[in-house]
Amino acid sequence: MMDIPPLPAPDGPARLPLRWDGRVTHFDLWHFQFAGGRWIAAYTGDLDNGEPVPLRIESACVFGHVLRSAQCDCGFQLQAAMDSFARQGRGLLLYGVDQDARGLGIAAHFAIYAMRQRENLDTAEVYRRLNAPVDARSYEPVVMILRHLGVSSVQLLSNNPRRDHLLREAGFSVVNVPLEAPLDIHNMSTLMLEKEDLGYRWSFETHADWLIPLQTAVADTPGHTRACAAVPGSGTAGTALAEVREDGTWDLAARLAAAFPAEAPTVPYVVYLTDLPRADELHTYAQLGAFAVVVPFSDIPAALRQAADAAGIRIVDWQRGNAYREQRPQWQLVHNTPRFQAYLRDGRVRCVVTPASGGEESYAIARCGLDDLMEECARAPQRFGELVEASSDGLSAPWLELDPGARGCVPEDVIARLVERADRSAALSGLS
Ligand SMILES: [Zn+2]
Repeated sequence: MMDIPPLPAPDGPARLPLRWDGRVTHFDLWHFQFAGGRWIAAYTGDLDNGEPVPLRIESACVFGHVLRSAQCDCGFQLQAAMDSFARQGRGLLLYGVDQDARGLGIAAHFAIYAMRQRENLDTAEVYRRLNAPVDARSYEPVVMILRHLGVSSVQLLSNNPRRDHLLREAGFSVVNVPLEAPLDIHNMSTLMLEKEDLGYRWSFETHADWLIPLQTAVADTPGHTRACAAVPGSGTAGTALAEVREDGTWDLAARLAAAFPAEAPTVPYVVYLTDLPRADELHTYAQLGAFAVVVPFSDIPAALRQAADAAGIRIVDWQRGNAYREQRPQWQLVHNTPRFQAYLRDGRVRCVVTPASGGEESYAIARCGLDDLMEECARAPQRFGELVEASSDGLSAPWLELDPGARGCVPEDVIARLVERADRSAALSGLS
């Protein structure tokens, strides 16, 4: 049993006409001032008629409730609960006025948005930096208010197992009524994090459910990658729009495009990847109509994020319970211009010559650019290192791989020489 402090004298009741569900319904309001924060109770109908009281416990969210942010589901939750109370003529809202950002407050909420948006940190890291638990909310006031109002049996409109558990532990009879916002591109990350971090009983799967089978398939073969396109929230089994693999050809996006159904889905979908994409592949994914690519890594190179912005697609980091157990080195984008990109991995260098368009002629120009580069590299291996591999088979933008170390070169120097070479070439610089 939890320790229940004495109930402070509440203010109220105030009877107010509240506008919900397109009508005006009278609610009785109480205000409670606890040591840990303020609470409002608002109810309509007879709480004491022997039936469980429909109950919504709502944490203040100035962004979702007042400013109608679509990034969290707070606005939907409050509206759905209050509309149903007004419709049924019975229900109780307990509103934690000081519980913004799961109890951390509005200032912390701003800090969280800043860390997420400017630094692209995930939830666990954000809360670690704030030195705060992911859920700092106290529900003891809820217990006290319910007892004060004489409520012993509730119909809990919530998918949060913690609330259910605490109420039962405090001796209330609880019937759970799910209240789930439709998943959309704005609230997706927030809701999926709630499911993974806080055990919310959302009916939809998370990004990890899509990523894990793909990651498992390639975990032992670092050179192999996989992709699948899917509608999040559609359930994973058998619902992928397309799924492809490549075993060293480094042309996953082209393969996905080839495998994609002729009729694009009308609902937003994402592309799940086992590895960081090439910068030019982001354009392919955007052209296919995906609104995001999701990768199982927490640190995405800034240059790749910029490339995603330029391509008009989001890149979402999802390295959580699904993190690879073994380190999995990635081709890191280190130089990016419209026609030419350079990547670095484990001392090896790759560069890609991107065609200006999807047309044959454009591809031929890009291949000429790559051939020029290859010739130069072959002529001066002491400046560029060993040519390991090259691909210009027409499926994807041509690329080549160099091993600078094999000829005693420094990878960064080789990249600088390649960039300089590309700048001088019309085919590579985008002047063609
Ligand atoms: Zn919110």
